[in-house]
Amino acid sequence: MNRQQLQNFLRTTDPEALELLWLTADGMRRCEVGDAIHLRGLCEISSICSRRCLYCGLRADRQIKRDRMSMSEILRAAEKAVELGYGTIVLQAGEDPALSREWVAQVIELIKDSTDLAITLSLGEQSNETLREWRDAGADRYLLRFETSNPELYRRIHPDSKKGRNRLDQLWAMHEMGYQVGSGFMIGVPGQTENDLVNDLLALPRLPLKMIGIGPYLPHPETPLGQHPELYLAPPEDQVVATPLLVWKVIALARLQVPKANIPATTALAVLDEQEGRKLALQRGANVVMPNITPAAQRSLYDIYPSKGRAEAAEQTSDAMTTFDDQLKRDIASIGRTVGTGRGDALWSWKEN
Ligand code: SAH
Repeated sequence: MNRQQLQNFLRTTDPEALELLWLTADGMRRCEVGDAIHLRGLCEISSICSRRCLYCGLRADRQIKRDRMSMSEILRAAEKAVELGYGTIVLQAGEDPALSREWVAQVIELIKDSTDLAITLSLGEQSNETLREWRDAGADRYLLRFETSNPELYRRIHPDSKKGRNRLDQLWAMHEMGYQVGSGFMIGVPGQTENDLVNDLLALPRLPLKMIGIGPYLPHPETPLGQHPELYLAPPEDQVVATPLLVWKVIALARLQVPKANIPATTALAVLDEQEGRKLALQRGANVVMPNITPAAQRSLYDIYPSKGRAEAAEQTSDAMTTFDDQLKRDIASIGRTVGTGRGDALWSWKEN
């Protein structure tokens, strides 16, 4: 889709145009990736972080209780994922220096030795040497959002970006190493304009992506962006504001931009609209859900944005996790879809896109 078409859809309030967008995105999803909804067990292995991203509640400056899961806790979570019938475990964390190359490689090997799970890593910016070692140890996929395609905005909200590496370079390097690569962005970050959002959507098919994660920015009151948005906001007429409608539109447009991608209905969207967020995303382009399988104590510390706990409250204990899982599976059946079996890999090469 070209710039003008994307802009028209982002702006429209015409019910017929919207209906057309939902039907087209849902039809494209159905033709390209089918009716199965893949469930990925999300395990938040460490809330320790050395970075100071302006939007994230785990930023290093905050004096909060933080923790890291032990290897045996992670293995138990992997067993829980298997028990619930999930084909993938996603290991996500802040940039915790103690998550060393060797330690993570060992975790990957242990999970691979004891389960058939696909392993997705979401451990932030890493060197090629580290990424290669994790890939050799058996990691299948990697999620790293580019967050925004506007380089100036990117630098502003990532004050330590000079210390890290260019995320786009990392996405290409991981693709070369044989990872299934996922990326995406936030909607409504202070300073993001409609033009930026159009550019974010235009960037998707140019990157080697098999997974696309998009969610609303949710202000965290104890971060610079949450505390003083006025210092960062674009002029009111330009500033993107994340409404559920806008997030559904962007998910639908992402499906049209990269028809075969695996696209989750994200937790952040489920926080923004607890009633309909997830379900309507699944009917407007998305085909993946990532239920949280992190043990309760650790999960409550993984405070990237507020109310995350509430959206996941139903998943708090092992029993409740099972109840949540039952409900999710009922919801999936109620919209005429099936639960994916197996790993739910993206079975296409990026060049076919
Ligand atoms: N350290 C890893 C994982 C970060 S958490 C990394 O940097 O990739 C995963 C995603 O949560 C981030 O990529 C970001 O897009 C999102 N996120 C963080 N803070 C958020 C907030 N306040 N509102 C909405 N999404 C947020």
